Amino acid sequence: MVIAIDGPAGSGKSTIAKMLAKRLGFKYLDTGAMYRALTWRAMQKGINLEDEHALCRLMDQTTIDFQSSEDGLFIFVDGTDVTKEIRLPSVTNNVHYISDTRNVRRRMVELQQKLASDAHVVAEGRDIGTVVFPRAEKKFFLDANIEERAKRRYTEFKPSESKISLDDVSRDIESRDRRDTTRINSPLTRADDAIYLDTTKLTIDEVFTIILGDIEPVLKK
Ligand code: C5P
Repeated sequence: MVIAIDGPAGSGKSTIAKMLAKRLGFKYLDTGAMYRALTWRAMQKGINLEDEHALCRLMDQTTIDFQSSEDGLFIFVDGTDVTKEIRLPSVTNNVHYISDTRNVRRRMVELQQKLASDAHVVAEGRDIGTVVFPRAEKKFFLDANIEERAKRRYTEFKPSESKISLDDVSRDIESRDRRDTTRINSPLTRADDAIYLDTTKLTIDEVFTIILGDIEPVLKK
């Protein structure tokens, strides 16, 4: 069984996907982390991020995998734990080069499907319900207004990135949204059969309860 959760940055999808995976005993697949991981690797190797061939070669030569433990989900690139590094602003700012490269996406989608082939999964990203798992049993599209999403991200980052203001976070999210929704390859869009949930005025627990309530009948089938 696949539960697909898509939505823009700060919509709550990671938190909800993790909570759901834990509650249901499903595998959690963070596809954004995979695009970030390849971005980190390309930057580390000094690869020209506009060189599609070099990026595809890198994707073919790179092993990306996850390890889950009591402390959470860790992502490894060729055996190196990059869980923290992939969240650096420099990676966030460059990830669009990777996520808008058609042939990298094709390979990434294959890898995501493979990672989900041996388990029930909760997968989150931008194209899960549309491209990666179009036949997912349940699809959700989480959203929230820009002010709320920026506030959530700002609260997350503040301790480590004190020089960043709320306005900076808001601008970054808006430009990432623009890129993700207007790119040619697999833009962020709601699948026709996805349930749309505006989380602006909802707590995480409320969102979780709504989604779980929707999934439970399917689990009992
Ligand atoms: O979800 P997260 O913010 O970690 O994603 C980082 C970036 O990876 C997104 O802004 C988007 O460009 C890309 N991404 C994607 N497709 C996915 C997941 C993430 O293009 N399924």
